[in-house]
Amino acid sequence: PAATLGSEVTVDRLSVNYGDFTALRDVSLTVPAGTTTALVGESGSGKSTLALAAGRILPPGAAISGGSVTVGDTELTALTGKALREARGHTAAYLAQDASAALNPVIRVGKQIAEVHQVRCGASRAEAAELARQGLADVGIPDPDRVARLYPGALSGGMRQRVIIAIALAFRPQLLIADEPTTALDVTVQADILALVSRLQQQCGLTVIWITHDMSVVAELADHVAVLYGGRLVEHTDVLTLFEGARHPYTQALLTCFQSGRTAGPKQPFTTISGSPPVAGPPGGCPFHPRCPQADGRCGTELPVPRRVGHDHTAACHRLEETP
Ligand code: SF4
Ligand code: MG
Repeated sequence: PAATLGSEVTVDRLSVNYGDFTALRDVSLTVPAGTTTALVGESGSGKSTLALAAGRILPPGAAISGGSVTVGDTELTALTGKALREARGHTAAYLAQDASAALNPVIRVGKQIAEVHQVRCGASRAEAAELARQGLADVGIPDPDRVARLYPGALSGGMRQRVIIAIALAFRPQLLIADEPTTALDVTVQADILALVSRLQQQCGLTVIWITHDMSVVAELADHVAVLYGGRLVEHTDVLTLFEGARHPYTQALLTCFQSGRTAGPKQPFTTISGSPPVAGPPGGCPFHPRCPQADGRCGTELPVPRRVGHDHTAACHRLEETP
């Protein structure tokens, strides 16, 4: 594929509200250019909200209530109108969970990709058709000329997801945001898509934010991992440190579930942490305190803020010592 150089992404004290409900509070993190950060957490953790806010595609009723998202030189959260429409896809492209919903069922797939090239870079029809064919080949579609002429309904789920990735890449995004794009696919197709994204990420130097609840996907794809709980960032570090030296009690519980659930299959990570995930908004103090095995007196009343607990490693927990 043509070189698509990813940009550094900075999320700074970002908060998002759905009416009175704060889905994301004061989250800060940086994704270095050309790397993949996995966002992990249970449903209700705020990980999809962070992804939607970073792509500036929050649904009606949701609003960024504070902070900023910057991709390269572009402060996405400051854009409105035409500049915002242009940034969607090009600055930050979003891969949805359900590929079928993102494709137009009555337009041939080659044309859907070609249109991006025509609109984005003013390619001629012939150039755009050739770029679309190339795009299909780049995402591992074996017979791109034939597939380009098909309608989305004629493709398998895995092929549709490849087409969606080809469309996302046609925008030459500085940031690719993927919200569990493989969960609807069967396990072998899922593995193929993960391998494809890894390859494209390395070839194109894409910056990727990948939302998942599956720790095996984290292990496969991520350079860094951000763990969210109750709308807050609770731990952030590189992937090796996460698996070998997670410090936050919630992350430790996630990893224990993952390791004990491995034999039972990859689709049931987080289900065995006792207590309910926060659904009605976090309680006072540490959002994890109702479920935390290590909670003490102040955990119910004082909010822990992310602090440095090691090299390239922050965590938000009262019980952890801050390191210089
Ligand atoms: Fe547990 Fe307290 Fe740490 Fe929260 S601050 S994770 S409740 S020990
Ligand atoms: Mg979600």
